[in-house]
Amino acid sequence: MTHAAAKAHIEAVAETARTRSHNEPEFLQAMDEVLDTLVPALVEHPEFIEAGILERLIEPERQIIFRVPWLDDQNRVQVNRGFRVQFNSALGPFKGGLRFHSSVNLSVIKFLGFEQIFKNALTRQRIGGGKGGSDFDPHGKSDAEVMRFCQSFMTELYRHIDDQTDVPAGDIGVGAREIGYLFGQYRRLTGRHESGVLTGKGKVWGGAEVRTEATGYGAVFFAQEMLNRTGEDIDGRRAVVSGSGNVAIYAIEKITQLGGVPVTASDSSGYVVDEQGIDIGLLKQVKEVERARISEYAARKPNARFVANGSVWDVPAELAFPCATQNELTVQGARALLDSGVRIVAEGANMPTTPEAVVMLQQSGVLFAPGKAANSGGVATSALEMSQNAARDRWDFEQSETRLRAIMRDVHDSTYEASERFGRPGDYVLGANTAGFVTVAEAMLDQGVI
Ligand code: GLU
Repeated sequence: MTHAAAKAHIEAVAETARTRSHNEPEFLQAMDEVLDTLVPALVEHPEFIEAGILERLIEPERQIIFRVPWLDDQNRVQVNRGFRVQFNSALGPFKGGLRFHSSVNLSVIKFLGFEQIFKNALTRQRIGGGKGGSDFDPHGKSDAEVMRFCQSFMTELYRHIDDQTDVPAGDIGVGAREIGYLFGQYRRLTGRHESGVLTGKGKVWGGAEVRTEATGYGAVFFAQEMLNRTGEDIDGRRAVVSGSGNVAIYAIEKITQLGGVPVTASDSSGYVVDEQGIDIGLLKQVKEVERARISEYAARKPNARFVANGSVWDVPAELAFPCATQNELTVQGARALLDSGVRIVAEGANMPTTPEAVVMLQQSGVLFAPGKAANSGGVATSALEMSQNAARDRWDFEQSETRLRAIMRDVHDSTYEASERFGRPGDYVLGANTAGFVTVAEAMLDQGVI
């Protein structure tokens, strides 16, 4: 297999997807970003081409789209659209979160499901890839409205999931509250207390320690591994973090615990800068307890300031953690980060950096950790939750964090090794894509044309 033949094969597969999925820009972006890096893996494995691995990989095994009707507090009928894309189950049950956000559509869910295949493979926890969600936006809704929505959503979803088939969890807009309502309705509909059907559950009814913290902690552990390779450390370094949801909050917490100084947090209205380092207690109070805007943080903390509608990347730092949402870090943001001497960009969110910004950062010598590797701690800890549920066991916080730490080290090392093996040491994008791809492709090859 020559380099040119592998490239031509990839181009042909991408062309088919572009025709078939022409109205799915986020999915095509995620797909191109993976396919562009697979030439060396295909040169080494021509059998993957013969077996039609790429053609099968870019087409979900199944996608479900459904109506979600619910009554608001004024008894008016509301209708949202629900999705579950079951992308690939070669390594295990479909696994991936549910996103409730007004921007959700099939393209967004397919991009997330596609990323999840490779991310989950990197964790080596034997989980396939899937994703779901709805264009429902929980912001500004009462608890009762959120409950009725979740119950209606599960009234369709329950037929497509179980602990061996497909195991949803949280993502943007889906946290402990939503998982609780979803699980309650699943239990009522099936008459079974099937713990392993969802992850991110409350701790007294099957949830795992560290699951809440895992994505943010994991991203910081990954950055720490990158620094350790060059004999450096997080201790004493400034970090900019975008977002103020679950991922951002626990990235900020872990950076602080490791001696770093996280100076920002943001939401869709703007960002706050706190030169003393974000006060994690206050941030949790504002965002987790009160579900208020980020400006509330600055209103209550002397010396912190709120910048409306600005870009968090304008704040100088050596470490950057985009933890908000897709395509939030553009070329403009990358340029600002480079001007301030950024060393590491580690993606806590899924695909937060645009492809042009990734190239720019990498070409300037920044160590760039793609979300597939850097944010895999969340789903990896979900897999640990599934193990504990299956064994009717419960691990303590310390044991769980130690496992997470070990998994992130392993994800880092296998990603780095793949980058070396396929000719570009330190290119974590190439490393994550090829390491994840080869694992899934081998499983698909073994299991025949299905
Ligand atoms: N939504 C998370 C992610 O993007 C976690 C999914 C899970 O725990 O299943 O990986």
